[in-house]
Amino acid sequence: MSLTIGVLAVQGDVHENILSLETAISNLGIDAEAVEVKTPEEISSLDGLIIPGGESTTIGHLSLANGTLKVLKEKIANGMPVLGICAGMIMLSKTADDRVVGKTNQPLLDVLDVKLERNSFGRQRESFEADISLDLAGISKFNGVFIRAPSVSDVGSDVEILSKFNEKVVAVKRGNVVGTSFHPELTQDVSIHKYFLNLVSRAS
Ligand code: GLN
Repeated sequence: MSLTIGVLAVQGDVHENILSLETAISNLGIDAEAVEVKTPEEISSLDGLIIPGGESTTIGHLSLANGTLKVLKEKIANGMPVLGICAGMIMLSKTADDRVVGKTNQPLLDVLDVKLERNSFGRQRESFEADISLDLAGISKFNGVFIRAPSVSDVGSDVEILSKFNEKVVAVKRGNVVGTSFHPELTQDVSIHKYFLNLVSRAS
């Protein structure tokens, strides 16, 4: 069966994720295609979805306005695998406060029982790259690109911690819901996209 993997194309790193998915699909040799999605109708036919990095307040408000948030919440509750990257992980969370300004009252999906600290490592000029590992995902070394990245400040009891950097949690998983603070689409290494495609294959 052919799989359709969407990248939520509201705002942010959309094209880079399509390219990483295409490379990962060809490396794995699976029958799948990567598509940009915007509308509730496009989302309803997906087997898996990436919510890319960008600006979570913008992604949240635009997705609320066109009805996407509601459909997404239903699909994820029904088991559709989702990978949230940076702002995308913020979208998946239950609560997200900014490190400096505190409460943001932004629309969130609340499908991952975690509390997030936005901009946890500082602002744009404090962006950095660092080697991290995600042993539970079978990835021993990965170049993490952190851009105005959040960290996970609190995890619910059934949430697995996939990676930490400097004592801060930077990748988590619960069932088919995965979140990373860093940007896997900004490196040539597609192991995280492959890991996600394997989750989608198993779920379908
Ligand atoms: N700081 C952004 C936010 O809070 C996320 C940054 C990113 O996705 N690179 O939405």
